[in-house]
Parts: sequence; C-alpha cells; structure tokens
Amino acid sequence: MVAITEQTAILQKYLDLPQNGKVMAEYVWIDSEGNTRSKCKTLSKRPTSIDELPEWNFDGSSTGQAPGHDSDVYIRPVAFYPDPFRKGDNIIVLTECWNNDGTPNKFNHRHECAKLMKAHEGEDIWFGLEQEYTLFDQFDQPYAWPKGGFPAPQGPYYCGVGTGKVYARDVIEAHYRACLYSGVEISGINAEVMPSQWEFQVGPCVGINMGDELWIARYLLQRVAEEFGVKISLHPKPLKGDWNGAGCHTNVSTKAMRVPGGMKDIEAAVEKLAKRHKEHMLLYGADNEQRLTGRHETASIEAFSSGVANRGASVRIPRSVAKEGYGYFEDRRPASNIDPYLVTGIMVETICGAIPDADMFKEYARESSA
Ligand code: ADP
Ligand code: MN
Ligand code: MN
Ligand code: MN
Repeated sequence: MVAITEQTAILQKYLDLPQNGKVMAEYVWIDSEGNTRSKCKTLSKRPTSIDELPEWNFDGSSTGQAPGHDSDVYIRPVAFYPDPFRKGDNIIVLTECWNNDGTPNKFNHRHECAKLMKAHEGEDIWFGLEQEYTLFDQFDQPYAWPKGGFPAPQGPYYCGVGTGKVYARDVIEAHYRACLYSGVEISGINAEVMPSQWEFQVGPCVGINMGDELWIARYLLQRVAEEFGVKISLHPKPLKGDWNGAGCHTNVSTKAMRVPGGMKDIEAAVEKLAKRHKEHMLLYGADNEQRLTGRHETASIEAFSSGVANRGASVRIPRSVAKEGYGYFEDRRPASNIDPYLVTGIMVETICGAIPDADMFKEYARESSA
C-alpha cells in the first residue's frame, strides 16, 4: 500500500491553485486491447452540451489503432461527466474513435450499437451490467494473497466481513464514491467468491448509455487503483484451478417485459437467444471458454440453457420475476472483459430485431480481421 508522504502535501499546494477560469477536459477513448486511454485538453469554459466539445485526435500508431503512415485517429466526444479527481468544473469526456477517411475506427463498436439502440428506442430497453474484476499487486500477484502460497479455499470471501475475509475495501469504496460523484448509475458493489475479486453493478441504464457508463466506471476504477498501486484485471479466468472466474452478467428488460404479463416477452427473448448462441458467444469476450466450464456458477460454453433462479444456466430468470410474472432476465454468459457495446448491441439485435445498416456480428468480424 502507498504511504502518505511529504510529496502528497507538496502536490496539494498546486492543486489548491485557481485555474483562471479554464477547464481541464480529460478525453477518454477505448484502445485496441480493450483498455481505456486518456489525454487532457484545456477548454476556455465548462461546456453545457456535448456539441460544445471539440473533436480531437491522437497518434493511433502508438496504440495499435492506426498504421504509422496514416496515424491520426480522431476522437469525437459523445458524453461528459464531472471529474472526481480534479473536481470543480473539470470534466471527463468519453469519445468515439474515427479514422481519417471518415469510417469508424476498427475498435469503435459504439457507432453501430448506437444505431440499433436508436432504431429500437420505442422499446425503452434497460440494461444492468455486473462488472466482476480481480485485483493484483505491482508484482502481478493476486492482491494480498500470501507470498508464495494460496489463501484458504473459497467460501468465506463472497460478501465477506472481517480481516482475512475481505481485501482492498478502501480501493472499492474510493471507486464507488468516484462513480457517484461523476453521476455514473452505479447500483451497488460486493466482494466476490474468490479473494480479492470484486463486483460493481451499473444500471439500469437505457440503450447506448449502458456502454458509456460501464466504460467510464472502468476508467474510474483504473484511475483509483493507480493511486493505490493496485492493478485491475478484467480477465475472465485470472487464476487457473479452483478459483471462480469473472463475468459481466447482463440484465435486460424491454418496456413490455416490465409490466404485468411481461413473462411471455421474457420467454420469447430467451427463445431467440437460444437460436443465436454461437453468434453471441463470439462477442461475449476473449478467453471466455476458460470460464464457462459448467463449474463455478457457470453454464457450459457449448450449449444454451435457461432456468428460473438457476445460476448454472446461460440465462437466469430471477425467482422474484417468475413469481410476479414480469421484470427482466439475466444473461450470465458475458465475460468480464466484454466490450459492452458489442454485448448490448447484439442483445438488441437478437431480441428486438436486426436493422439494415447495423450488424453487430459483422462488427466482431471487423475487429478480428484486424
Ligand atoms: P445478481 O443477483 O445476479 O448478483 P445484482 O444485484 O448484482 O444481481 O445485479 C442486478 C442488476 O440488474 C443491477 O445492475 C440492476 O441495475 C439490474 N436491473 C434491475 N432491474 C432491471 C431491469 N428491469 N432491467 C434491466 N436491468 C435491471
Ligand atoms: Mn451480482
Ligand atoms: Mn457476481
Ligand atoms: Mn448476476
């Protein structure tokens, strides 16, 4: 853990200086590895709407997003949030990556997803994502695990309380507060089954907002963890053996599912999902086959299954939803390292219908051929 040093006090002198009316805007984008990157720009005033934020660019040859001879990648602002690190009028700006020739950059899946969300706006589709993740120390050892050994087997850690049962609560608390400050719809947190594995939930969020908010929540998590000297892994099976993997359960409802009688709409959606299992799996995160083994509260990757209250199924209908006859369902297949735009995109495409000019599966092909 980091100690409070004299350096922290020195830095504070400068953080207390007024900014002369200028605003610092941290532009965030998604790189070719599914990480966020960011750089900062000075603005003359705080914007009141997204159109007031200028387009910018970065060197895509340094991020694997463009070739050296045509290296400019353009970043177009799509949403902005209060900056919990700099505070005041400073903001964090989420952007989409675009190529010089006017086409979306190969890792920009938001563009296609947004078209689908717009086309099905009338369905008022809500998502809630459960982001699981694992903490590592600077030496790439699972955070706070005994040196050269293993902690006691899984059991006491899920929602654990007390020394030896829960780790890094300070990091998680700081991230939670940062999300609330920024206006991210974080709906909760919990310690997970494997020690030093945690989860936060974002949602319900409507349409394209879901991907935006999850990416910003991930960015905030990386920034907070940086301050604590902790590494965040989104790998779906960070440790081999009898340790739980990490997922990003995707909870979904349309307007029709949320009103009495909605159970038949939920069942119809589950049927459509069953028919497109293979296509969905291709978009549900790399290395997911290491996690979806049929053990550790997962279903096998090979076949689609569904059930009420069944945490060993691909899709679970919560008990309370089955009882009331309406609500939402949970797709448990997505891995922790998904691009939420691909997952929410194909979800809408499958359950609400394809549209002529957007195809999430083609989106996947665009990335994998790169
Ligand atoms: P679990 O029991 O699977 O661990 P969590 O409480 O961790 O469930 O997460 C449930 C998620 O479902 C939350 O993100 C919540 O916002 C979301 N959610 C709740 N109701 C709906 C709904 N009607 N439509 C979509 N998502 C929903
Ligand atoms: Mn959960
Ligand atoms: Mn969980
Ligand atoms: Mn869940």
